[in-house]
Amino acid sequence: MKKKKNERIRVLVTGCAGRMGQAVVKTVMAQADMELAGAVDSHEFAGRDVGVLAGAGESGILVDSDINSALQKFSPHVMVDFTRGWVSPGYILPCLDEKCACVVGTTGISEDDMERIREKQKKTGVPVFIAPNFSIGAVLMMKFSVEASKYFEWAEIIEMHHENKADAPSGTALRTAQLMGAVNSSFKSPVNEEEKISGVRGGVGSGVRIHSVRMPGFLAHQEVILGGEGETLKIRHDSISRECFMPGVMMAVRKMSSLKGMITGLENIL
Ligand code: NAD
Repeated sequence: MKKKKNERIRVLVTGCAGRMGQAVVKTVMAQADMELAGAVDSHEFAGRDVGVLAGAGESGILVDSDINSALQKFSPHVMVDFTRGWVSPGYILPCLDEKCACVVGTTGISEDDMERIREKQKKTGVPVFIAPNFSIGAVLMMKFSVEASKYFEWAEIIEMHHENKADAPSGTALRTAQLMGAVNSSFKSPVNEEEKISGVRGGVGSGVRIHSVRMPGFLAHQEVILGGEGETLKIRHDSISRECFMPGVMMAVRKMSSLKGMITGLENIL
């Protein structure tokens, strides 16, 4: 559904009962130029007022467990999705059919599903924006790491997240490795090293070694360590609360009416 001039942006939130979804609901409800237009999550939350669920007071929007019914009822302009990698495509594809632009923060979407989304996006012409990390600090951490990658021969990534994170490594670590690997495809590794415990040296993404830590006490953190002759450089980002993602999400929602195609990465719309 195309937004008319002076109309508020109608936003549908999928995964509305989750940690990120609740933060999005609360933030959307506080924006003068936006209107909450639908909320979707699994059956167990169906029928509950999403504003109350998110701790933002009554919104009059009841959680739906069916994306098609939410799309028909509210004709949203933009969907914001923070669900699970295997759930998200099932929300994005019907949105594109209904001309609802998609802002996707969910990580762990498979390459096959990405291809299906890409194809549908091309067919419908409805814009899709995907960001593995909506925080400005994390985007800068990636940017600085890419810059440093041109000058250092060694690099490894350590990412730390809360114990309920579903995917490893994080989407941010994968994206950082991808961007670093694009400017330096020959990071060094010790030769003939023997792993006494399988996996102890982490995994390799785009030529960069990645280590994932999961435990309570962490939210989302990443350290990129680069090494050269006689020196190391550490570039670290810490997300202290989920609020850090909201300015990026709101910016993406506002920009959807002028975006074209399928765009990945907050750095591409800043
Ligand atoms: P969460 O577990 O708190 O929330 C996920 C929500 O999705 C839950 O409410 C759950 O009920 C819902 N859900 C799961 N399966 C469903 C299904 N089949 N149908 C309907 N709803 C379903 O997780 P979270 O911490 O909010 O993170 C959500 C996603 O966002 C993850 O992929 C995470 O990695 C990602 N994330 C991205 C960013 C970013 O900046 N891009 C930041 C934080 C988290």
